[in-house]
Amino acid sequence: MRDRVDVIVVGAGPAGSTAAKLIADRGYRVLLLDRAAFPRHKTCASWINRLAFERFPYLMARLEELVEAPFYGVTFYDREAIRAGLFSEAQPSGYLSLRSKFDDGLRRIALEAGAEFLGRSPVVAVEEDRDRIKVRLLDGREFAAKVLIGADGASSRIAVAAGFRKGWAAKDYVVCANADVPLDPGRLRAFYGNRFPFRVYLEYEGVRGYGWVFPKRRHVCVGIGAMLNDNHEIRPLFDRFFRNLQKKGHIPEELWPESVYFDIDPVGAVYGMPRLTRGRAMLIGDAAGFVSGATGEGIYPAMVSAELACKVIQRAFERGEVEQSLARFSDLWRGALGDYVKRLPGGDHEGKTRGRIEMIFRYPFAARLAGRIFLYGEHLSLRTLVRSIRPAR
Ligand SMILES: Cc1cc2nc3c(=O)[nH]c(=O)nc-3n(C[C@H](O)[C@H](O)[C@H](O)COP(=O)(O)OP(=O)(O)OC[C@H]3O[C@@H](n4cnc5c(N)ncnc54)[C@H](O)[C@@H]3O)c2cc1C
Repeated sequence: MRDRVDVIVVGAGPAGSTAAKLIADRGYRVLLLDRAAFPRHKTCASWINRLAFERFPYLMARLEELVEAPFYGVTFYDREAIRAGLFSEAQPSGYLSLRSKFDDGLRRIALEAGAEFLGRSPVVAVEEDRDRIKVRLLDGREFAAKVLIGADGASSRIAVAAGFRKGWAAKDYVVCANADVPLDPGRLRAFYGNRFPFRVYLEYEGVRGYGWVFPKRRHVCVGIGAMLNDNHEIRPLFDRFFRNLQKKGHIPEELWPESVYFDIDPVGAVYGMPRLTRGRAMLIGDAAGFVSGATGEGIYPAMVSAELACKVIQRAFERGEVEQSLARFSDLWRGALGDYVKRLPGGDHEGKTRGRIEMIFRYPFAARLAGRIFLYGEHLSLRTLVRSIRPAR
């Protein structure tokens, strides 16, 4: 193991493994560190939209290894899970996976590109001098590099240790519960059919957020995420959601989740970050708050933020000028991801958002429009309107 490399990446989730692969592809020495042994659990519904597979075509060649099943559009339900609005597509809108599987696949792809990986290696401290940046692990080992990427997720240690932020404000995240409940594949197909539905329950019980039921090949993924106020706690909310959907026949009656996981999702939180680069350190993925403010979906933006990070790092190494080159990251992400991670209007404009949601259940066209906005981070534009007018196939 080399203790001096060009880039250290902390965190081997979609952001970190993508960064490690793309930097190794360019011929630089990369060390990828993660506190976990892989494959590892990550609380996530694990849908990855089509854009990720189009932008990173090497994923398509490894589909079997990375994902469980495709999905085709989305069915929205109202807050009582009664009325529905449908957006359907002939080609896959994306794929459902288990994060233990998807992330381990991405990590292996990074290793094949030439990155070195160390699991069970929690980073606890960061120190920078004139021409190096150093990380220290819990067991005292130290590694140094020219650039450090913090890709260590929503509760990023690097963000704190390198002086980016102390934590998130309550307005910067939603609280989520998720369970991948195992189910016999035969029973799953008998219950949901061969083309699995992708169901989203908007503002369930009036919360600012949504619940989901995503059948996968061998699991039914059920979860809910919301900006919670004093009237709601996540565990009882999840339990009511699960039982109610069972009663309504959306979840097989014999299922009950043994393991429910809870986590935060920093939706659109990047807008609250004063900066994403400092000296030789930078943040990407959840650590930086690159999560869609409309849906909480963060895998695609995490991967795109990794790609943008590689661009500025390459420029830094070619020019021999690190700090200034990395600072360009701020302009790059606003161009490439600025709209994607924007929040839905809240506060005074919440009524407007609610009105638009209501239209989904009244007008098929509005459901198709909402489907594009939800799945692909599109915004109300002429292009999206034209695409939505075409009848669903
Ligand atoms: C319940 C829930 C459901 C979600 N569903 C979806 C979904 O369906 N689709 C979607 O696109 N997004 C979803 N998201 C968001 C998505 O999970 C994240 O945006 C995504 O995981 C971000 O990837 P990342 O690589 O930045 O971070 P992570 O995937 O969190 O990876 C961070 C890595 O850093 C490691 N690490 C942490 N601290 C240290 C340390 N000190 N030292 C070393 N390593 C460390 C961790 O072990 C981890 O492997 C969901 C989030 C939640 C909470």
